[in-house]
Amino acid sequence: MNLPTALDRLPHLLNADLHCHSTVSDGTLAPEALAARAKANGVELWALTDHDEIGGQRRARDAALREGLAYLTGCEISISFAGETVHIIGLGFDADDAALAAGLARTRGGREARAREMAAGLAQVGIPGAFEGALPFVGNPELISRTHFARFLVERGVCADTNEVFRRFLTEGKPGYVPHRWAALGDAVRWITAAGGVAVIAHPARYKFTPTEEYALFTEFKAHGGRGVEVITGSHSATEAVKYAAMALEFDLLASRGSDFHSPDESRIDLGTLPDLPGTLTPVWQALPERVQWPA
Ligand code: AMP
Ligand code: MN
Ligand code: MN
Ligand code: MN
Repeated sequence: MNLPTALDRLPHLLNADLHCHSTVSDGTLAPEALAARAKANGVELWALTDHDEIGGQRRARDAALREGLAYLTGCEISISFAGETVHIIGLGFDADDAALAAGLARTRGGREARAREMAAGLAQVGIPGAFEGALPFVGNPELISRTHFARFLVERGVCADTNEVFRRFLTEGKPGYVPHRWAALGDAVRWITAAGGVAVIAHPARYKFTPTEEYALFTEFKAHGGRGVEVITGSHSATEAVKYAAMALEFDLLASRGSDFHSPDESRIDLGTLPDLPGTLTPVWQALPERVQWPA
């Protein structure tokens, strides 16, 4: 099956949204609600990319196809690189791949112990019961994340919004922050590519790297078989998009586009409402025509 004719000629203008989160990780909408919202917002190609988890893929794909929306499988893997947490997006993999599922299960493994340590840190600054308080916000018991703690602290009235919670409590050096060792870069890239997918560096402007560390990330990512970078994302300013468009060309990487939508109440950028990809770049979906699942 081909892209619609106009988009065949101008593939960078496809309204693709290849990054968002459901209740299966730290989003507040179910996969079905996200599919409906994507469709209503004019998305033409969609991927659900829950953190370290592909348990929502079947629901997302079925809902997308019911909505008449083309679908790519997706996930967002947490890795540790040069002392920072980096996110690697996987797109178009086989969602039944056993090695990918096992790698993701290992990556999720430390989250509960980490969450209990986070709660202990918060208790020390006068916020008791945060583990139990965060639980009602958690949709997947294997995926308790900082976002769920943030929602609890907003509900408790400690902070006005989740951004304030992250700034005051959940980022490095703050009382609820617990450093964590995630997957290795090479492992994450290999799990995705061995399952037939394409690995993409998520929101590169978000990492606090020196230019040398960033160069190392891009170089090692490519050496492991990584092929793409998010250029247009809800996390990038216009200036950052220009910078990473240049990086995509310099490193010969495919370009991706995704809102990183989590919630109607929290996300600045809604599904399908991002700027277009620059026409000088090769969209990641052009490399995945056989992996796109089309509605009947
Ligand atoms: P975790 O995987 O538990 O470390 O949680 C990471 C998630 O926290 C990210 O995927 C975002 O959804 C959210 N997050 C990280 N930093 C911020 C921030 N400054 N403001 C709001 N949400 C954030
Ligand atoms: Mn998140
Ligand atoms: Mn991310
Ligand atoms: Mn994300």
